[in-house]
Amino acid sequence: MIVAIDGPAGAGKSTVARGVAAALGFDYLDSGALYRCVALASLEQPGISPAAHAAALEVSLGERVLLAGRDVTHAIRSPTVSAQASVVAADPAVRVALVARQRDLLGSGDWVAEGRDIGTVVAPAAELKIFLEASAQERAARRAREIGADPSEVADEMRIRDARDRERDHSPLQAAPDAIVLDTGGLDVDEVVARAVALARTARSAGGR
Ligand code: C5P
Repeated sequence: MIVAIDGPAGAGKSTVARGVAAALGFDYLDSGALYRCVALASLEQPGISPAAHAAALEVSLGERVLLAGRDVTHAIRSPTVSAQASVVAADPAVRVALVARQRDLLGSGDWVAEGRDIGTVVAPAAELKIFLEASAQERAARRAREIGADPSEVADEMRIRDARDRERDHSPLQAAPDAIVLDTGGLDVDEVVARAVALARTARSAGGR
C-alpha cells in the first residue's frame, strides 16, 4: 500500500509522513532528499549537468542521507541547497530520472512517500493521497522554528521556492483531484498524524489489504 503525502514547504509533510510511517509500520520515502542531493552535487560539480547527476545519483536514504557514501544529512538542508533543489527540480530530465528511481523503490512493500508530485505523477494509483496545506505565514513560522532562523527571511525564501514549485511546466505542485486536503494550520502534529493514520486504515480495509 502507498500513502502519498504532498504539499508545499513547511506544511509539516516530513513530520507527519514519518509519524504515519511509524504508526503503520510502513517504510518512509523523503523524495525531496533526492532533489536536494542532485542540487548539492550540482553545486559542488557545476561542470556536470543536473540531469547527469540525477541519472548517476548514488544515494542512500534513511536515518542518515548518504551521497556517494558521504553523510550529507545536514548539508542538504542548507538554504543554498533548498533554493537550488527547486531549480534542478524544474528540469524535466532530472524529474524523469528521479521519478523512475522513486517508482523502483515504491514497487514493493508498504510506503508513506512525501513530496510534491507523489499523488499526481510518481504514484497516481496510491491508495491514499493527502495534500497538506497551511497559510504561508504559518509555514514560514514553523520552518523558522525548526532551523532557528528569522521568520521573515524564511518567508521570503519560501515564497520564491513555492512559486517555482507551483509554476513550473513539468509536474507542478498541486493536489491530485482525489487527494484529501488537510489544513495543518493551528493543528497539533499528533492530531494530523492521527487523522492520516485513520484515513490510511480506512483506505486499507476498503482495498481489502
Ligand atoms: O520536500 P523538500 O523541501 O525537501 O524538497 C526540496 C525541493 O525539491 C522542493 O522545493 C521541490 O522543488 C523539489 N521536490 C520536487 N518534487 C518532489 C519533492 C521535492 O520537485 N517530489
